[in-house]
Order: sequence, then structure tokens, then C-alpha cells
Amino acid sequence: NATALFSELREKLSPRGNVVSEAGRQRTIELFGAPLSPQEVVEKICNDVRNKGREALLDYSAKLDRKQLTPDTMRVSAEELKAAHEQADPEYLATLRRIRENIIEFQSALLPEDIKVLREAGESRVELRQRYLPLKRVGVCIPGGAAAYPSTLLMTAIPAQTAGVKEIVVVVPPTDFGGYNTDILAACYELGITEIYRVGGAQAVAALAYGVEGIERVDKIVGPGNLFVALAKRHVFGEVDIDSIAGPSEVIVLADETANAEFIASDLISQAEHSPGSGVLITWHAPLIEAVRTALVNQLNELPRGDLARQSLLDYGALILAHDEDEAARYTDLLAPEHLHISTADPDQQLAKIQNAGAIFMGHYTPVATGDYYAGPSHVLPTGGTARFANGLCSIDFLKRSSVIYYNQAGLQADAPGITLLAEKEGLTAHAASVTIRLQED
Ligand code: NAD
Repeated sequence: NATALFSELREKLSPRGNVVSEAGRQRTIELFGAPLSPQEVVEKICNDVRNKGREALLDYSAKLDRKQLTPDTMRVSAEELKAAHEQADPEYLATLRRIRENIIEFQSALLPEDIKVLREAGESRVELRQRYLPLKRVGVCIPGGAAAYPSTLLMTAIPAQTAGVKEIVVVVPPTDFGGYNTDILAACYELGITEIYRVGGAQAVAALAYGVEGIERVDKIVGPGNLFVALAKRHVFGEVDIDSIAGPSEVIVLADETANAEFIASDLISQAEHSPGSGVLITWHAPLIEAVRTALVNQLNELPRGDLARQSLLDYGALILAHDEDEAARYTDLLAPEHLHISTADPDQQLAKIQNAGAIFMGHYTPVATGDYYAGPSHVLPTGGTARFANGLCSIDFLKRSSVIYYNQAGLQADAPGITLLAEKEGLTAHAASVTIRLQED
């Protein structure tokens, strides 16, 4: 029963805010003195930061990240940034610049133009506009608990800069993979980002949303993170905008008889190595299932992170044989994957049948890593089946739009009967009067 299989797989992959391991439960008791759920932990942290400000932010950094920061050491200094940049590998910096150009090229092509619609009849004139402006201040969360992610800085901050955002604030945990990581700091310097705080987790999200002494609140918070970051973003949404609530990484590979089993195994493993992460093959060419299974076993044995990836694939992976291309497309839409890799002879043919996917990688020579690191679209993408309605992050997400409406007197005269009729139907007579009063002049 395919629908049951897919809903089970989807359920496993959705960010489950209240499911924790025994070790996680013990750590929560140790930290908070009670077996709180992650949701309750996040609410407590956010409320404390909101009420007590910087003191709570620094207390939680000490408690959760075991780092005693001061208002001075919390912020990365201009000297530290410059030093990190000076000692960075020149090839790394040159690569960052090339990627930056790729991202700007794509993200600037997406930006919409202001729109103007003019309705004129005789003297009457109604002008309607849509105006786009960049957000003023954006917070970017860069993870730093388990690994350093300079690519995430590029994939969040550059789309914002391309949209014209002037103030970009980076928060990154006070770890060797985070706020003390010279690759991250050199990349910030390269992008001209100077406001970086060594704070992470829910406490950093709360500080960005509410503002604390020394950190002015932002208008939008973007970027990935662990469960605590994701739940905190959900908690502060409304006070501030957010990009999405991200869960574990996932890929579906759609493949036909022209696909290479070794390539596909490497695609599935590269998502699984996020640990947790999911890799699902869907094919209508039966021999590929066994060939990919063999390739997976061989490649996993060779990989340094092979054990983690193997467990992830056992927990969240699948090799699925569909009857035909149409059924494979239906399965793909049901799962609505973050990444879809169409490894077939004519990928456009399959693409035309699919509605739900965050980012789509076409053909045998476009591994997901091209989008993760280099090509131009952001790698911050909708996970957990949310590609049914959500989009990957892009420059447009850093714009806000206002409608602009302009009537002259003859225009108002012409539209007055319709406006007043609706206002009176709703019993809002003052609304109607605000129109008629203007038509009684002289
Ligand atoms: P992180 O940097 O997001 O969060 C670490 C913080 O979590 C710590 O600073 C701490 O304050 C908080 N924390 C940890 N344990 C806690 C507890 N028990 N109670 C309260 N707070 C706690 O963490 P990370 O480990 O680096 O995870 C980053 C995640 O982001 C990974 O799952 C990774 O796969 C994902 N990621 C996604 C993308 C993407 O674009 N989709 C890119 C990079 C990383």
C-alpha cells in the first residue's frame, strides 16, 4: 500500500517537536530540573530572554553551550574578523568570491520590478502601484553545534544582500564550528558582514526577535538549525518574520534505465550523511534496485561517516520500484521532497509531471552538491513535505511590498456608488461618508 508507506515515511521525516531520546531527556532534566519537552524548553528560553534580555542570553549560553561570554566577547570584534580573513587560504577566498558571483547573478535575476496599473476614462484617473523595498534588518542563523557551515552563510546572506538589505546580523553558537571558526569569520568579512554574535540555539533566535541590550531586534530571521532553533523560530513568528521551520535533509532520486547505480548511491548517501537525513530512490527499471543496493553497501564501507549514513538510510531511506513513470511522479508528489534529482535520459519529460519539490536537479551530471555549494539558488529549502506549499529561500523573500492607490476627484466620483454600497451593506457608514464628503465640495 503505497499511500500508507509514504505517509509513514513522511511522518518519520517531519520535524517532531516532542520526540526526544532518553539521553536528551536526561540532559533536559540536568539543565532545567524537570523533564520538559523541547517545546517547553524553547518557550522558557524565549520568555526569559524577552523578560530579562542580555542577562538571560548570556546565562543560557553558559548553561547550554558551556561558554561564559561577556557583552564584549559575545560580539566578534573587527580585529578578529580581519585576522581571520588575513590568515584564510587564498584559494578558499577565491572560491567564495566565485560562488558569491554565481549567487548574485541568479538572485538578482529573480527580483521583481515595481508594477503600475493605470485606469483612465475621460477626467477620471485611478493609479495602482505595487512597490517593493528591501527589509531593513535581517538576522541569519548559522549552525555550529556539530559542523561549520560557511556555505549556509553564503546561501542566506547573499540573497538578502542582493535584495538590498543593509543590516545583516549573524548569530552562530560560541563553538569551534561556529563563532570561533575562522572559515566562517573570513566568509563574513568577505561579504562585508560586521555584526556577528557568538550565540546560538533558541536564546539567539529570541534575542534577534525581541532585541536585547546591545542587539537591536530584526525584521526577519532566516537560516537553518537544530530542533531548538526550529522551534524557537516557530515561537517568535508573528513578532518577526521567519523563512521556514526546517527539518532533516532529504532527496528523492527518480531514475530510469540510463541512470548509473554508483552515482545514485552517492546521491542517497550524501543526504544521509547529514544524519539524520533521508535518501529515497524511485525507479520503474527493476534491475536498478539491486544495483543501487550493492553500490550503497560498497560505498558506505569506504566512507568516514559511513556508519552514521547507513543508520540514517535504514531509518529514513527507501528503494522503491514504481510500475511506470506516472506512478513514480505521483509518489514524488506525495512525498514533496526538499531535493528532487531526476536522473533520466530526458529529465524535462518527468519534470513536467511533478508539482511538489523544493529544488530540482536535472540529469546524470547535476548532483545535489552543485546546488548546496555553488550554482546560485539557495540551499535553504522546504523540508518535511512542506514543498507542497513552501519555497526555497531567495532574494524575493527579503523584499516587502506595499500597494499604492491614487484617485483623482473624478475617479472617486466614478467609483463612489460601488464603494458606498459595499460600506453600507457592512454597516460601516463612516467609511461611506469618507467618500461622499469629498464629493460634496463647492
Ligand atoms: P545548531 O548550531 O543549530 O544549534 C546548537 C545550539 O542548540 C546550541 O548552541 C545550544 O544553545 C542549543 N541546544 C543544544 N542542545 C540543547 C538542549 N538540550 N536544550 C536547549 N538547547 C540546546 O546545531 P547543530 O547541531 O549544528 O545543528 C544544525 C542542524 O542544521 C543540523 O541538523 C544540520 O543538518 C542542519 N543544517 C541544515 C542546512 C540547510 O540548509 N538545510 C544547512 C546546514 C545545517
